[in-house]
Amino acid sequence: MTEPPEAPPEDPPEDPPEDPADALPPLREVIAAHGLGARKALGQHFLLDLNVTRRIVRAAGDMTGVTALEVGPGPGGLTRALLESPAARVVAVEKDARCLEALAPLEALYGDRFHLVSGDALEVDLAALGPAPRRVVANLPYNVGTPLLLRWLRDIQSFESLTLMFQTEVADRLVAAPGTKAYGRLAVITQWLCQVRRDFNLDRRAFTPPPKVASTVVTLHPRPEPLAPARFETLERITQAAFGQRRKMLRASLKGLPLDLEAAGVDPQQRAETLPVEAFCRLARQLDGDG
Ligand code: SAM
Repeated sequence: MTEPPEAPPEDPPEDPPEDPADALPPLREVIAAHGLGARKALGQHFLLDLNVTRRIVRAAGDMTGVTALEVGPGPGGLTRALLESPAARVVAVEKDARCLEALAPLEALYGDRFHLVSGDALEVDLAALGPAPRRVVANLPYNVGTPLLLRWLRDIQSFESLTLMFQTEVADRLVAAPGTKAYGRLAVITQWLCQVRRDFNLDRRAFTPPPKVASTVVTLHPRPEPLAPARFETLERITQAAFGQRRKMLRASLKGLPLDLEAAGVDPQQRAETLPVEAFCRLARQLDGDG
């Protein structure tokens, strides 16, 4: 009787691929080790739960091969989730020297895939920090969230998307429709250039320390073309005048500008909060003499 052939020896089980993140200390330890007591002036409210930061990254869509641009990485909770994604690289701009020091180990671990930029995001040209396609993903410092957004809107074609955490009241203003209380300058300018999606709300207790108000993640996708032709500066000028006195009829709030409202198809008795984006664009074109 012949012996059955011996089964070939099994390959030893492969080691699971090493995840550089395994080498990182928990975020609470990072905060303690670097004395990252939250500074109010810098809008510091940290997210320490990776399930939450991963959810934000998922809202940003397909990260494959993109440059992920983060503003205000803080101790790095969202940064870690971005580094777990298939982004080609992650570039983070931070103003607080303490956080920069706390994040230095990430640079050592991830090499060229992670780049830390020391600076004020209000002064940095974000699009210059990495090649397209670029997605901005950030838990923004609340005190500068709106000016930062307005800055990026001026250069919106440089970005595939912006996924941003705002205080809920600002998120409401971004998605507001005409005829609602939250509809104002921010809605007009943002919706003129982008489709805005409300992703999810986060309870204030998700942050350390908790802010006074709830937060909301929104994603902005630049439209291939603005909703209607207009110049950014002129639209800003008109919306500033119109919403500066939002309770007044447009014939009163816009009387300082050389406009013929009726010729632009706008009822002078309307109030700014009822005027759709396209109508503001018509007024802007008329003011620029190309309507
Ligand atoms: N991304 C971190 C997180 O989710 O835990 C921190 C978010 S915290 C709300 C805002 C961060 O933005 C802080 O780290 C703060 O130091 C930083 N920051 C504040 N103002 C900034 C500015 N003008 N430019 C760059 N970073 C800023």
